[in-house]
Formats: sequence, C-alpha cells, structure tokens
Amino acid sequence: MKHLVLLGGGYGNMRVLKRLLNSSDLPENIQLTLIDRVPYHCLKTEYYALAAGTISDHHVRVTFPDHPRLNIKYGEVTAIDVKEKKVLLKDQDAVSYDDLVIGLGCEDKYHNVPGADQFTLSIQTIDKSRQTYQILNNLHANAVVAVVGAGLSGVELASELRESRPDLTIKLFDRGDMILSAYKKRLSNYVQNWFVEHGVEVINNSNVTKVEEGALYNHDEKVECDAIVWTAGIQPSRIVRDLDVEKDSQGRVVLTEHHHLPTEEHVYVVGDCASLPYAPSAQLAEEQAEQISQVLLARWNEQPLPEMNEIKLKGVMGSLGKKSGFGTMGSTALIGRVPRLLKSGILWLYKYQV
Ligand SMILES: Cc1cc2nc3c(=O)[nH]c(=O)nc-3n(C[C@H](O)[C@H](O)[C@H](O)COP(=O)(O)OP(=O)(O)OC[C@H]3O[C@@H](n4cnc5c(N)ncnc54)[C@H](O)[C@@H]3O)c2cc1C
Repeated sequence: MKHLVLLGGGYGNMRVLKRLLNSSDLPENIQLTLIDRVPYHCLKTEYYALAAGTISDHHVRVTFPDHPRLNIKYGEVTAIDVKEKKVLLKDQDAVSYDDLVIGLGCEDKYHNVPGADQFTLSIQTIDKSRQTYQILNNLHANAVVAVVGAGLSGVELASELRESRPDLTIKLFDRGDMILSAYKKRLSNYVQNWFVEHGVEVINNSNVTKVEEGALYNHDEKVECDAIVWTAGIQPSRIVRDLDVEKDSQGRVVLTEHHHLPTEEHVYVVGDCASLPYAPSAQLAEEQAEQISQVLLARWNEQPLPEMNEIKLKGVMGSLGKKSGFGTMGSTALIGRVPRLLKSGILWLYKYQV
C-alpha cells in the first residue's frame, strides 16, 4: 500500500479528497489519511459572521467525508520531517507518508507591531473566532471596537458587527486613502459610503504602531478601545514557516508547476501556504487542489504528468451585513444586493456539494 497524508482539512484538501475519492482512477493500493486538529471542515470564509454573532457555530461546520479508503486522524501537527517522510504530532506517534499534501492554512501576521499579538482578537481559526465572538458580544452598551485592517475580512467583520450590535462604536482602521482602494473606484466608494451611512468610522491613511491593553496607537495618537480585532495581515502556518525550503517574500512555499517542492516530488503544498501568483483565497486553494489531484492520479497510474494550465479565478464576493455586498466578476464591479445574494448562493452550493 502507498500512503497519501493530507495535512489540514481546509478548502484545498477538501477538494483534493473530493476529486480522489470520487475518481475511478484512484489505484487500489492507495490509502489516504487526513489529519486536522478540528473534527470537521471549517468554513473559514464565514468566520467574520461567527465572530460578530450573526450565525451559529454549527453553520460553519461541514462533516468530513466518510469513505472506506480514508482514515481521519485528529491531532495537532507540530512539525514535518521531509527527510524521514514523517509528520510529527503533539502527544501522538508520528505518521509516515509516501506522498504528502500540506494544507495547513494561515495565521495572523502582526508586522512586528508591539502588543498586537497579545492584545488583539483574531478571526483566523475557529477557536479564536469563538473567543472573539464571546468578547465582542459580551461588551457593555456603547463600547468601542477597533478593527485593524480593512481588507475583505476586516470590511466583512466591521459591517456584520454593525448589524449585530448597533450600539457599538466601531472604528475601522484602513491604511489606504480609500477603503478597498485596489478595487474599482465605484466599488470602493460604495463600500466607504455604506460605512458612513451605517455609522462605522473609517479611519483612512492609518498606521497602527503599537497596541496595549485597552488602546491602540494610530501613528502616535492613542485611541482607547474596549476590544481590538486584528485583520491586518496573514502568513502561512508556523509548521510551514519552520520548513527548511525556499519561500517567497510572504513566507509561502515556492513550488514547481506541478505544485510540489522542487527538491521533493512527494511533498505538495496547497492553499494559503503555497506561493502562487494570486493573493490567498479559498477559491485559489480549490483550483490548485484540482491540479494537485490530477498530478497525483497521473503519478500513481504511471501516466505522463498533465500540462498545468494557468489558474483562473472567477472573482471576489464580499458582504456588507446580510443585505448588501460588493464583488468583482471578470472586470465588472458589482455592488448592492446582487453580489450579496451571489455570495449566499455560492456558500449554499459549497455546503451542499462539498
Ligand atoms: C473572515 C474571512 C473571510 C474570507 N472570505 C473569503 C472569500 O470570500 N473568498 C475566498 O476565496 N477566500 C476567503 N477567505 C480566505 C480563505 O478562507 C482562505 O484562503 C482559505 O481558507 C485557505 O484554504 P486552505 O485550504 O489553505 O486552508 P484552511 O481552509 O485555512 O484550512 C486549514 C486547515 O488546517 C488545520 N490546521 C491548521 N494548523 C494545524 C495544525 N498545526 N495541526 C492540525 N491541523 C491544523 C485547520 O484546522 C484547518 O482545517 C476569507 C478568510 C477570512 C479569515
């Protein structure tokens, strides 16, 4: 038997599993093991709503596949020994592999801002999102919440929290001149205006230089806050950062066109940990996973490796609470109710087809 081990049951590896387990080309001698610290697939793209308290915990969980060829192991991955072909686990025996797909996702990146790791809340793991939910929803009336970072996740969290807690003062700290300034002007205007109309204070051209208990410093100005959520940057999982392999400037692993390490053709990296020509996203993880599945099947069946086409992404959909949203489809900017409905539809399809 040959053993494929998948680290992390996120968007990337769920797609690898779906493709392999449903394939008539999966050779009889391949056994699969999925390892995750959490006993279900988590819909990370919805963590902003979990933290804001507008959806239930159950809503962001999907059961892992039940299949005779798949063994599921729950535990904390602590290291990968590429030389010995072993995955080390906390308080459990190491797991050996013949092929490995690393899909451990990402963590917050604090850009060396003093106090940020200690005094801010996170929405990067389900556990941390639950803690954030508890703290945000237990805040006293009229408390002040700062959201640091106005990318997709910061915007979604600030708007969802507005709907969940109309009494709060919400301050969204944005580094740019205009919110979501990388998008078309029509879209960023719409989002900025949504915040103005809904009483969320957007602080453009901000630079958070220090965080301490109950306050952050924007440039050098102290801003008192009852809670601070960090959505200002991500980096690959520490397990991947600790690997002695080539990385790009964001710490993501540099791969061959077939998505494995240049020095080890049995170790693949999928999703947020992989160096790809796009910003990390669930959609990207899934598209890359499609290609990894093709490569694995070709290798196991001793067929020539497939040519890898350029990965094409369909666009981005973001929410502004439950009734409004924004997005892009090709070069078209979408604003208002339509992108919000599309986002809900995509989530619904994902949950029931995964
Ligand atoms: C609030 C928010 C909104 C987002 N919205 C969108 C969106 O609208 N569209 C989009 O495309 N992307 C969105 N993203 C980004 C998207 O969620 C990620 O890019 C995607 O989850 C990456 O998939 P992945 O397979 O690399 O890892 P993940 O989906 O993060 O999965 C990683 C898995 O590894 C497990 N794991 C991690 N470390 C360990 C360990 N040491 N031991 C054991 N298990 C471990 C985790 O439990 C998890 O199951 C959003 C992200 C956030 C935070």
